[in-house]
Amino acid sequence: MSTNIGKAMRNAKCVMRNDFVKPELLAPAGNFEKLQAALIYGADAVYFGGENFSLRAFGDNFTRDEILTAVDFTHARGKKIYAAVNIYARNADFDALADYLKFLDAANVDAVIVSDLGVIALARRLTDLKIHVSTQANVTNFHAANFLCEQGASRIILARELTGDEIADICAKCPVELEIFVHGAMCISYSGRCWLSKFLTGRDANRGQCTHSCRWKYNLVEETRDGEFFPVAGDERGSYVMNSKDLCLLPNIADVIRSGVASLKIEGRMKSVNYVAGVVKVYRAAIDSFCDNPENFTVRDEWLDELDKVAHRPYTTGFFSGDGKPTEIYSTSKPKRSANFLGIVRNFDASTMTATVEQRGKFTVGTRAEFLQPHGEIFSQTITSITNSDGLQIFDVPHAQQLVTIPVAKPVETWSLMRSPT
Ligand code: SF4
Repeated sequence: MSTNIGKAMRNAKCVMRNDFVKPELLAPAGNFEKLQAALIYGADAVYFGGENFSLRAFGDNFTRDEILTAVDFTHARGKKIYAAVNIYARNADFDALADYLKFLDAANVDAVIVSDLGVIALARRLTDLKIHVSTQANVTNFHAANFLCEQGASRIILARELTGDEIADICAKCPVELEIFVHGAMCISYSGRCWLSKFLTGRDANRGQCTHSCRWKYNLVEETRDGEFFPVAGDERGSYVMNSKDLCLLPNIADVIRSGVASLKIEGRMKSVNYVAGVVKVYRAAIDSFCDNPENFTVRDEWLDELDKVAHRPYTTGFFSGDGKPTEIYSTSKPKRSANFLGIVRNFDASTMTATVEQRGKFTVGTRAEFLQPHGEIFSQTITSITNSDGLQIFDVPHAQQLVTIPVAKPVETWSLMRSPT
């Protein structure tokens, strides 16, 4: 890319575009099952972390063999897979990083997500991997985006602290693909570039070891009064002063797409398969609906209801609207959800109208269950009987991940998720 990136681009007026391109929907793959769920429920691409060098050191990360299987599974469906290698590296990391990057290149992953300039340089020198610059790099302006483009980046994941107008402006003035987060947990510090966890616990967020110290409840203690805690906040809101709400840009999805971004990313490699499936299904439906008929697009209540069923903190549109509303939750740090995850449908037998369900949560005969399907409509029914693999009728399902058969009122798709209201 030329260093003389378009004067015209830099002077372009910031507008939400009418000639938008349908963006990619990019979902988290915390493990192979979540990767499968994300793709089956409609993601165009997934991202994962290997055993080292991504920012989820405590996640269920992929071994090298699992990466090869994941790449095959993803590419067989015509979709893309990106590897997060976004730690801030130290000198001692680079021999192992070189080996890992060469492995990812040979494994045929579609891109690496990188924040450290040294790792970008290494990937460019040793591999043909496409480089997506991580949100950790905190790109907040088109000058930075264009500079990184000149250094070989093929995509920039913008910082979360930008307004919709700023995002559209960068899109208009930057020749490479841009990606933004549309859903999931947020850091109260600058896009996760944070020292709080390291300072309080020794675990470094910038090396994937965050203890989420911003979610803790803080009090004031006078050093000679052991055990006496004085509230920090002076009002009824309490003292979770750094506990950010979760991002949800579904209400703004039309403006998000019109801004010109190439990829919409869902956060949550540590979240459940229920979260991945539910959130992907909603954003898939919203993107398709808008792109099919932008003039008559509306955000449907059923989509918002579905996002309320997965584990989440209260939602915010974050910085996107630029309205300066507070985004912290002062009362609690606990996420809530309005549905319990009971199991995954592994098989449907049309001749007997029964489904084989792999247990994930407690259910019994009489439980009211709802089925979230990859493609079809949600439906509900009461579980009238449960049969175990020995053909015996049972009242409840005692073992985790046990396979049982239940009658279903309607044909149900494999990979449907069975849930119950909380
Ligand atoms: S402590 Fe909170 S703000 Fe800091 S990196 Fe962790 S999640 Fe983000």
